[in-house]
Amino acid sequence: MTATVINGKAYAVSLRQQVGAAVAQLRADWDVTPGLAVVLVGEDPASQVYVRSKEAQAREAGLRSTTLRLPASTSQKELLGVVADLNSDPAVDGILVQLPLPPGIDSGSVLAAIDPAKDVDGFHAINAGLLATGQKGLVPCTPLGCLMLLRHCLGPRAMTGLSAVVLGRSNIVGRPMAQLLMQADCTVTIAHKGSRDVPALCRQADILVVAVGRPELVRGDWVKPGSVVIDVGINRMATADGGSRLVGDVAYEEARQVASALTPVPGGVGPMTIACLLLNTVIAACRRRSLAIPSYIADC
Ligand code: NAP
Repeated sequence: MTATVINGKAYAVSLRQQVGAAVAQLRADWDVTPGLAVVLVGEDPASQVYVRSKEAQAREAGLRSTTLRLPASTSQKELLGVVADLNSDPAVDGILVQLPLPPGIDSGSVLAAIDPAKDVDGFHAINAGLLATGQKGLVPCTPLGCLMLLRHCLGPRAMTGLSAVVLGRSNIVGRPMAQLLMQADCTVTIAHKGSRDVPALCRQADILVVAVGRPELVRGDWVKPGSVVIDVGINRMATADGGSRLVGDVAYEEARQVASALTPVPGGVGPMTIACLLLNTVIAACRRRSLAIPSYIADC
C-alpha cells in the first residue's frame, strides 16, 4: 500500500479562505484591516518570487499589503531606520524582512529590531522564548504550517505519546517545530549533523519532520512503516535536459512505499508557509488591539 499524499496546497487554500473570512469580520465589526509590510532588500530572484506571492495572497485575503523594495546598496543603518518607522506605524500589524539580506547587513540585528508584537515571521528572540516556555507569542510560519498538516492528518488527540523526530535544528524550522510537537504531547528527538546514526533515529519516528536542505537525504529505509513524514526541504536539482526541478529532503517515491502519509515537494509544506504568515498577521492585529480572534481562525 502506498502512502496518502498530504495535500498542503489544498489545505493552504482553505486556510487562506478562513483568514479572508476573519479579515472581513474584523472590518465589519471594528473597521480594522490588518496590515502586512514586507521589506525586500536587493535583487535576489528567489526572494522576489516569494515576495510577489506573499503580496498577492495577502491582498486576496483582504489584508492591507505593502512591499518596500530597497536597493542592494541599502546600509544596515538605513534598514534599521525603515524597521523603526514600520514599528511605529499604527497601520502596520505585521513586519517581515525577507531573508537572505545582502552581504554587509547583519540579519540578526535587523530581526532583533522588529517589534515582537509585529514579528509575523516569529523569528524574534522574544517570540522564540515565548514558544520555548509554552506561552502565547507569534510562531514561525513553516513549523506552524507543518503542525496544522499533522493535526489534519492524525487528529490533534492522536498525536499524544507519539515519537516525533525532527531532522534539522535551525531557528526557523527545526527548533520551533520541536517545541510545537512537544506542546502537542509528542516525545521529541532533534537530530542534526552531530547526531549518531541518524537513519536509526529516524526509523523510531511515528512522525518524521525533515528540514535539512539536503536533496533526498532521507531514504525509504530510514522511514518507520506506517509513520507520517513531513518534508520541509526545497532543493532545486538539475535535470538531464538542462532544466531543473524541485525536490525535497526525502526520497519521495521510496518513502511513499513505507509511510502512511507524507507531504510532496512541491505542494506540501511550501504553500502553508504563506497561509500561516497571513494568519499570524491577523492574530497580531487582534492582539495589538486586544480584540478577540475571529471564530474563523480561532481554532487554527
Ligand atoms: P538550515 O538553516 O541550513 O538548517 C539545516 C539543519 O539541518 C541544520 O540544523 C543542520 O545541522 C541539519 N543538517 C544538515 N545536513 C544534515 C545531515 N546530513 N544530517 C543531519 N542533520 C543535517 O536550513 P533550514 O532553513 O532549516 O531549511 C531546511 C530546508 O527547508 C531547506 O531546504 C529550505 O529551503 C527548506 N525550507 C522550506 C520552507 C518552506 O516554506 N517550505 C521554509 C524554510 C525552509 P547542524 O545544525 O548540525 O548544522
